[in-house]
Amino acid sequence: MAKEETKKNAEKNAQKNGKTSADETEKKKLALEVIERLKKEYPDADCTLDYNEAWKLLVSVRLAAQCTDARVNVVVQDLYAKFPDVEALADASVEEIEEIVRPCGLGHSKARDINACMKVLRDQYQGKVPDDFDALLKLPGVGRKSANLIMGDVFHKPAIVTDTHCIRLVNRIGLVDGIKEPAKVEKALWKIIPPEEGSDFCHRLVEHGRDVCTARTKPHCDVCCLQDICAKNGVAKLES
Ligand code: SF4
Repeated sequence: MAKEETKKNAEKNAQKNGKTSADETEKKKLALEVIERLKKEYPDADCTLDYNEAWKLLVSVRLAAQCTDARVNVVVQDLYAKFPDVEALADASVEEIEEIVRPCGLGHSKARDINACMKVLRDQYQGKVPDDFDALLKLPGVGRKSANLIMGDVFHKPAIVTDTHCIRLVNRIGLVDGIKEPAKVEKALWKIIPPEEGSDFCHRLVEHGRDVCTARTKPHCDVCCLQDICAKNGVAKLES
């Protein structure tokens, strides 16, 4: 049997037996170092969507799909001026909401989801946002990314938010190996990130992804605080 295959089988067996593979141990070590460095670099990293009540974060996170957080923060001001609470948004028509949220793109489906979601909060949760991951996932328009964001930011519970920056960076750094599907990235990160660090770590990845490890230009590895420990997977291709 080839050496590589033997190693893979040993790792599979170790995982089956509840033991941690050598690869996972290395990734955990790397993750801890990345977490510490990003903490120093971005001590105040936080959610960039403005909200002062949990339900408003639910609305904003739905509007943020394929839209910038900055634009969402402007649009919600008009939305809340007209519909200031859960009840008002639940009672509004989809068209009335759509009229205001259109600048965020995908206006109709976002308006429909926000309206349906607020109806569920009003009718099943006394206007409150449930602090349970599975209950959040059942809300209209709420996927794993949004549910994790709410769990981490609102309820300060363990959370891994796999947005586009997170997925790009953890692959480049070498914390995951060529995984692009958000749910699979989330699963891989749960194994190597201490749960209490997950939420802040993901916010810091967003900042680092915007400022340094950028998507549209080649990443600025020369000024990156991770440059000596990062695998830089796929970066050479971007530079050529
Ligand atoms: S070293 Fe380069 S690829 Fe790695 S995180 Fe920094 S900017 Fe991104």
